[in-house]
Amino acid sequence: MTTTHGTLNGKVALVTGGSRGIGAATAVRLAREGADVAVTYVSGEGAAKDVVREIESLGRRATALRADVADPGEAAGAVERTVRAWGRLDVLVNNAGIGVLGLLEGLALSDVDRVLAVNVRGVFLTSQAAAARMTSGSRIVTIGTCMTQRVPGPGGTLYAMSKSALVGLTKALARELGPRGITANLVHPGPIDTDLNPADGPYAAGQAAMTALGRFGTADEVAATVAHLAASPYVTGAEFAVDGGHAA
Ligand code: NDP
Repeated sequence: MTTTHGTLNGKVALVTGGSRGIGAATAVRLAREGADVAVTYVSGEGAAKDVVREIESLGRRATALRADVADPGEAAGAVERTVRAWGRLDVLVNNAGIGVLGLLEGLALSDVDRVLAVNVRGVFLTSQAAAARMTSGSRIVTIGTCMTQRVPGPGGTLYAMSKSALVGLTKALARELGPRGITANLVHPGPIDTDLNPADGPYAAGQAAMTALGRFGTADEVAATVAHLAASPYVTGAEFAVDGGHAA
């Protein structure tokens, strides 16, 4: 077992959607910085347990919680379960999100409701529950998308709309929680190689071409910025593009 010493020693973090992709990389990165980390998942129990084992191998505590952020009770429940287990919550990473892309005429009411329930309402309710438990020095970091800055083609109405709500939410959270010493920030990934958006997928070449660097990013590259914000006391209400220059 390796014991790490980092910027988050003694802190407790909760990462929604931490079983795969950006969430899993973020959970491990926070643990490397010293945090104990709870991750949530919906169906990926095995993957979530792999993340738990990796964190424990770093000498930190970890737990996997089944909690669908689209379910109001489960969103808040993940916060409560984390606090019950470890007595506090210092860092919330609102990572869980779904990407439903498609032209207007193909999007059903059920698509709209599902995307808003996960990408917007779930983030709101999880943040609300976390804020009720957090104390001075705590951090909320939310994962948006480069499509809040620039939508390079058709098919992004629902996804871009849902993620754009997080811009207003983050600024308002910063204002409301600032007097309590709690920060709130937003990270906008560009195309990142995950199950959601594989770098060898049918639309990958076009996405890579839209970036200044001409390539997909990795989940670790996003996680590094999230970890930085989790340890930054004087940054709040801000948006950070980790997008390879997609918005440039
Ligand atoms: P993945 O699809 O690879 O992983 C999604 C993770 O979220 C999984 O752990 C999944 O759990 C979990 N999850 C999905 N739905 C829910 C839910 N309702 N409640 C709780 N957990 C849930 O996604 P990425 O890692 O690519 O994306 C992570 C975030 O980054 C999302 O918010 C996405 O919108 C955003 N993003 C991603 C980009 C990309 O190019 N990849 C670009 C810009 C933004 P399970 O294993 O159980 O399914």
